[in-house]
Amino acid sequence: MIDNFQELGLNRELIQAVTELGFTKPTQVQEIVIPRQLETETDIVCLAQTGTGKTAAFGLPLIQDMDLDTAHTQALILCPTRELCRQISDDLNKYARFSKGFQLVSVYGGSSIELQIRSLRKGANVIVATPGRMVDLLDRKVADLSHVRRLVLDEADEMLNMGFKEELDTILSFCPANRRTLLFSATLPTEVEGIAKKYMYKPEVVTVGKRNQGADNVKHYYYMVQARDRYLALKRIVDYNPHIYGIVFCRTRQETQEIADSLIRDGYNAEALHGELSQTQRDWVMSRFRNKTLSLLVATDVAARGIDVNDLTHVINYNLPDEPEQYTHRSGRTGRADKTGVSIAIINTKEHSKIRQIEKIIGKTFAQAKVPTGKEVCSKQLFNLIDQIENTEVKDEINEYMSVVESKWAYLSKEEIIQRVLSIEFNRFLEYYKHAPDLNVPEPGTSSRSGKSSKGGEAAPAEKGFTWMELNIGTRKGITPRQIIRLMTACGVGKKGIGRIELYKEYTRLEVSSNVSQQIAKQLNGSSYRGKRLIAK
Ligand code: AMP
Repeated sequence: MIDNFQELGLNRELIQAVTELGFTKPTQVQEIVIPRQLETETDIVCLAQTGTGKTAAFGLPLIQDMDLDTAHTQALILCPTRELCRQISDDLNKYARFSKGFQLVSVYGGSSIELQIRSLRKGANVIVATPGRMVDLLDRKVADLSHVRRLVLDEADEMLNMGFKEELDTILSFCPANRRTLLFSATLPTEVEGIAKKYMYKPEVVTVGKRNQGADNVKHYYYMVQARDRYLALKRIVDYNPHIYGIVFCRTRQETQEIADSLIRDGYNAEALHGELSQTQRDWVMSRFRNKTLSLLVATDVAARGIDVNDLTHVINYNLPDEPEQYTHRSGRTGRADKTGVSIAIINTKEHSKIRQIEKIIGKTFAQAKVPTGKEVCSKQLFNLIDQIENTEVKDEINEYMSVVESKWAYLSKEEIIQRVLSIEFNRFLEYYKHAPDLNVPEPGTSSRSGKSSKGGEAAPAEKGFTWMELNIGTRKGITPRQIIRLMTACGVGKKGIGRIELYKEYTRLEVSSNVSQQIAKQLNGSSYRGKRLIAK
């Protein structure tokens, strides 16, 4: 195990730069890849996730290898997205801070090609490019790759997923045959193996961690709910994690926009990121997310590619991806740079097999988590509030007002003041979760804890002396627990005769005292409520 950067054979300028960045010891991929690049000439295929420190792994030796006295382009780095392109360029410029004369130009779509051409004409030791824009520049004959000695294909699987195979073929045909190639990929599908075979010379395959495995510091959980409760489960999970900073992955642009809109409407700090937004809108969302003004980014897979945020606490799969391999990319957005992270999948009862499929790919198991109950969310929020109050800075200036405040509150006890202060924030959670149903459904083959209807699996037994009853009206008809109680009162059943009430969109389940259940059914069946003929069974 290598403990510091000096041992890797890097020069003084680079060591100074990484030290100033606060890197104390090399990550696993750096430990493996850097010495191989400095000491040997072999091509490398490196299976490593984002967040493992791979940019420095290829970037540091690449900078050390540049002949800074010539303006020729000696290295080309290809990556799938504009965001990643910028991120790599920023990182490399930071690493080369003390390497005098280092010139890097990044070229990507969605930005002025004229400006990029001007920068290229001034000279670039290194070009960092997305494949489409690179081909465009080669067509215009403004980039010369004939002196390239080092080629890096970053996130090769993503480039191929995005359909850049033809562009890669074109670009690689412009690079000298005796160049050295490094390929980084999170997964090794046959298409990537094909590229390695075709364009690399006897590459050494290096795997950081287990092949295809998600980062070790990511924990994987799934929550099983009825498909119609997916959004409610998302809100509970978010409410249960007051400091969440994460990405909610959706399958389509439309779903992404809908979920983001619903979250915003419900008072969450969220925004959508998908392909239908303009580049300016996307940049605006991303800059707010990066500086943490925004805590939830609701995104499609394509839009989230190359997001360079390191300290995400959560990745939430609102819907699992169609391709199970894609889960690796999603979950790899958290648990980066030695931080821990949580990757969550909200699934319905039919999707259990997908979880097993993903487990095989990532080589890790998911733990089934319970969607927190309303009470659990409330107590989590309360303790968060208490912590917030405890950690609030108190400025001296407040002392000026204290005597007025004290005399105004003289009639309140300390306990009453605390209750009121907490209630300012806490009431909305209490109100919202007052009659919140249990959203969990049991795994197929296990017994229910939630007491949900047969639609979700076996129904739990009613409390002793009670019977479950189902009414064909639900929240879609504006039903609230209070209205159910009123309805029961009209049938001559008092509060003591009513147990748990579970509201769903189209129906309601409630426990009623066994000795009055027939009486209720008789009274309600056939009567109408808000224009709907009631069925009670
Ligand atoms: P990457 O996998 O290249 O996207 O790197 C992920 C993050 O880890 C980046 O923010 C780097 O700045 C950071 N990083 C890279 N190498 C190290 C290191 N040796 N020590 C601490 N952080 C690092």
